Amino acid sequence: MLSAAALTALSSAPVLPTGSADAADYTTFPYTIEGEDMKGASCWTQNYGPAPSTWSGEGFFYLTNETASFTVTVPEDGMYDISIKAIQVLNEDGREQTVIVNSDEKMLKMAYSEDWVDFDFGLFRLNAGENTISFPSRYGYMAIDTVTVSVADKHDYAKATSVCCDPDATPETQALMSYLQSVYGSKVISGQQEIYGSGHKDNYEWENEYIEGLTGKLPAIRGLDFMNYNPLYGWDDGTTERAISWVKDKNGIITASWHINVPIDFASYELGEALDWKECTYKNYQAVNGTFNTANVLVEDSKERAYFELAMEDLAEQLLKLQDENVPIIFRPLHEAQGNDGRYGDGTAWFWWGDRGSEVYVQLWHLLYKTLTEKYGLHNIIWEFNAYELQDSKNWYPGDEYVDIVAYDKYNANNGPNLSAISGIFHALYSMTDGTKMVSMAENDTIPAMSNMTVEDAMWLYVCPWYDGGEDGGTPFLAGDNYQDKDNLIDFYQNEKTVTLSDLPADLYGSGNPQPTTVKPTSEPTTAAPTGDVEILWGDANVDKKIDLNDAVAILQFVALSAKYPLTEQGELNADVIDNGTSGVNGSDALAIQMVDAKLFSSSDLPMTKEEMNAKNK
Ligand code: CA
Repeated sequence: MLSAAALTALSSAPVLPTGSADAADYTTFPYTIEGEDMKGASCWTQNYGPAPSTWSGEGFFYLTNETASFTVTVPEDGMYDISIKAIQVLNEDGREQTVIVNSDEKMLKMAYSEDWVDFDFGLFRLNAGENTISFPSRYGYMAIDTVTVSVADKHDYAKATSVCCDPDATPETQALMSYLQSVYGSKVISGQQEIYGSGHKDNYEWENEYIEGLTGKLPAIRGLDFMNYNPLYGWDDGTTERAISWVKDKNGIITASWHINVPIDFASYELGEALDWKECTYKNYQAVNGTFNTANVLVEDSKERAYFELAMEDLAEQLLKLQDENVPIIFRPLHEAQGNDGRYGDGTAWFWWGDRGSEVYVQLWHLLYKTLTEKYGLHNIIWEFNAYELQDSKNWYPGDEYVDIVAYDKYNANNGPNLSAISGIFHALYSMTDGTKMVSMAENDTIPAMSNMTVEDAMWLYVCPWYDGGEDGGTPFLAGDNYQDKDNLIDFYQNEKTVTLSDLPADLYGSGNPQPTTVKPTSEPTTAAPTGDVEILWGDANVDKKIDLNDAVAILQFVALSAKYPLTEQGELNADVIDNGTSGVNGSDALAIQMVDAKLFSSSDLPMTKEEMNAKNK
């Protein structure tokens, strides 16, 4: 409580204008406040469950039906981290907790703990002047001993590699990769998706003409989609031709996704048969009652695999045309890996390539990578993985050797444009690879305000609004007032930190670009750890004396159909690397081998418990 004298002093002080305060009033960081000292908080020394016996200060605040808050005052806008020392003993499988910073809310699940643990709510933007941080009475039942606010570490954009993951990348591809890395962190590259099929209002240039008319500039990146080159209703809608022209005639950059379809009724589909697009889908089998089993794509002589081979062949044919013209591409296949819009109860994603979970997804990515690079000799690809920022998102990451850029698709406009830089998500994606891969916004509705991206230290490599579907029965992501703020669109395209088409260097694909600054890690041979009486080579499921992705595939096949894809007795012994001897051979063992392949740990660390593996996956 403030003393009467202090209250008098406050009431006679001059009223400070918003966003300004005397230096003496600024909070010193890191700033820690006792939970029980927050405004509205009562002081507790026991809770309803197993109670803590120690604490700092007089006790702790037990969040039940009171909202507690405090304020901090900062000289200018910036990013801060908020963490608490806390205990949650109500729900063994975790309980949602909310923090509100000014008007921004963030809800996270806090794990069960009978001892004080540091629980990090992550990064938040504080504005110049006074900021209120509060813990609302909502789900609650969390004991808070102390709250600490500290200045967030700046992202180290220079850490991102400029070396293509494909060691045989063409000189043009490596030059583009080097250019991207050279602007990453200081600039944001403008991009714009075009519609596939016949074009918006029958005009493939509709979006670019709209942008140029409004801002006087053109986007540097043209976004395309290879969905129409497929084995089912395939037709050449000119995507490849426009891609080549954008690079060769305009000196622009191209990116593409691949909404590859499968037959809904795959069971009665005959390979090679043409189908109307209405009989095809790119959605989760549960959404369309489909019979295409994505897990079977990993099974070498399955019909699903044969179909996927055909689809990859159609795709490769187009990508080879680009390569023949020395045109590199930022390629974003199997996108929105963990797409959570309408997420299913089994934790799978909304596109078919994510509908059997993360383990199958990662294998699918590896299969695509190997097929395009090895079978078709494609080395003009900058590989872009489209991620999410959920607690288990790292499980979907294909590995450093298969990915150049980590991307996110932002759709958060709600009854009007949303200019947020979604810096929390940027930070999560940056952290996914410890900053070693560039982070892009591969699709979006509203382009974030450059001022937000700058202040919030979320400098997305590029942005790329989805095509405008207005008057075609689609969503007007570009021209619609509910999606773009026109003033912001103009400011973005005219901003000195934005790279537009005319800002790209003339020798973008030449040798004038900065040379790679980081060195690709060399792979180390995996070694066996002989144990016990039986000679076990942990992870070697197919008993070929090597631990590689073939072992993960052998395990997944065995798990799916053990009668058809048995492991040898020795193979089964070798394969049970996670929770050895308790759970048998299962998907966790395959995941562990994938993680070894992704160099998250070495095969000599095997066997281990699932807990240990999850810890390495953070
Ligand atoms: Ca305390």
